[in-house]
Amino acid sequence: MPAGALADAATSSAASSTGSSLLSFVGDNPYFQAGFGLLGVGAAMGIARSGSIWGATLLRRRMLVSLEIDNRDRAYEWFLAWMAHRANANNAAASMSRSAPWIRSHELSVETMIERRPNGSSSVFFQLVAGPGTHWFKYKGAWMQVKRARETRSMMGGQAGMAVPWETVTLTALSRDRALFPELLAEARDLGMQGQEGKLVIHTAWGTEWRPFGKPRRKRPIQSVVLEPGMAEKIETDLKAFLARRQWYADRGIPYRRGYLLHGPPGSGKTSFIQALAGSLSYDICLLNLSERGLADDKLNHLLSNAPERSFVLIEDVDAAFNKRVQTTADGYQSSVTFSGFLNAIDGVVSGEERILFMTTNHVELLDPALIRPGRVDLSALIDNASPIQARRLFEQFYGGGSNDDISPSELEILADNLHNIVAEKMKNGQSVSMAALQGHFIRNQPRDAVSGSWDLFRA
Ligand code: ADP
Repeated sequence: MPAGALADAATSSAASSTGSSLLSFVGDNPYFQAGFGLLGVGAAMGIARSGSIWGATLLRRRMLVSLEIDNRDRAYEWFLAWMAHRANANNAAASMSRSAPWIRSHELSVETMIERRPNGSSSVFFQLVAGPGTHWFKYKGAWMQVKRARETRSMMGGQAGMAVPWETVTLTALSRDRALFPELLAEARDLGMQGQEGKLVIHTAWGTEWRPFGKPRRKRPIQSVVLEPGMAEKIETDLKAFLARRQWYADRGIPYRRGYLLHGPPGSGKTSFIQALAGSLSYDICLLNLSERGLADDKLNHLLSNAPERSFVLIEDVDAAFNKRVQTTADGYQSSVTFSGFLNAIDGVVSGEERILFMTTNHVELLDPALIRPGRVDLSALIDNASPIQARRLFEQFYGGGSNDDISPSELEILADNLHNIVAEKMKNGQSVSMAALQGHFIRNQPRDAVSGSWDLFRA
């Protein structure tokens, strides 16, 4: 045997003797036995864990379908409202049948909606929706997990410059049926839109996008806003003619937009008329507040170019916004919307898109001529204090039509004539009354007192 081989044999025998003595030491030592036992258990658990992760991944790939919706998408609100609606319905059914309620969750959030009516009153509604966390429900036989997560570190611009956290809901269906999500979303959308049918939706700017504000309002009949004879018809006819000429504009490459300015004293029905007109055409209103904090030229441009289809953009009291080409709010805050940025935003209509802009002001004389030139304002209308005819019509609307049993139609006629004459007389003396003030007066009084009683609503 060569020396080298001998040395190797010696080493290996030494090693094997060391190995066997080590084994016998380990075998005899209860601590090592326990250690190896633990090692074995650990390894087995490791394999099981990676096996279960692998299994879960496989399950997720094969069996689960996930969908993420973030709170920039309208489907987000629809889905939460749909979930709340189903939870209410199911919980009510469950409490009657004593079975388990539908949502497996106690983590709820409240969503408050404020509805403001044209007369200034408002109502507040609360809706309990699934809060951040994990929830479960069953849809068409498949279990679904809903994870609502809130990312507080990154915010997005909200209403009145308020930042709102990013949120997402992730829906995971324990089913391979991918059609479940479209079906569920369609149900949520239909439910969300249900309340809007036949109603007027008002949107406000939420960061760089438009969101419905409050609950959809009941439409106001256009005849209930009493303007000077012919005025409502003039505006309505102009708008309808514009809406009928889309192709005409397209053929000539003219931006398809129309601007209206309604000016006159406060309480004459400018806003009410615009809302009633939108309602009669089934249009929405996008209410734009130029003094809103955080609104800058680029955001304004984006908002104007991305108003929802079939909507009027309404800018109220536009004189307050730019009477000196610089915007300053009552508390001294200077907005970052510049006058030239505003004009650019009005002018920049994406070709083929329709834009209908309504502006109102109490002080037309303060407006910059650049704002009211044709192309920006195509129709300007004075909506003034009550004329004798308007006062008479409003009176008839309030008390006529058999709404007062104790007064005959002929007496009502005489009272309406008297009112007409009073308003005409006052106007000769340079005094007038707003339609809003007349409305308040009629609400407070019976017809005879409304006309013959002493009333000092008239202003010089
Ligand atoms: P403006 O926008 O001109 O300031 P609003 O439309 O806000 O006036 O009207 C304020 C209130 O007065 C509303 O409740 C509205 O019903 C009533 N009103 C004002 N003008 C009229 C009008 N011409 N016809 C009927 N109601 C009116």
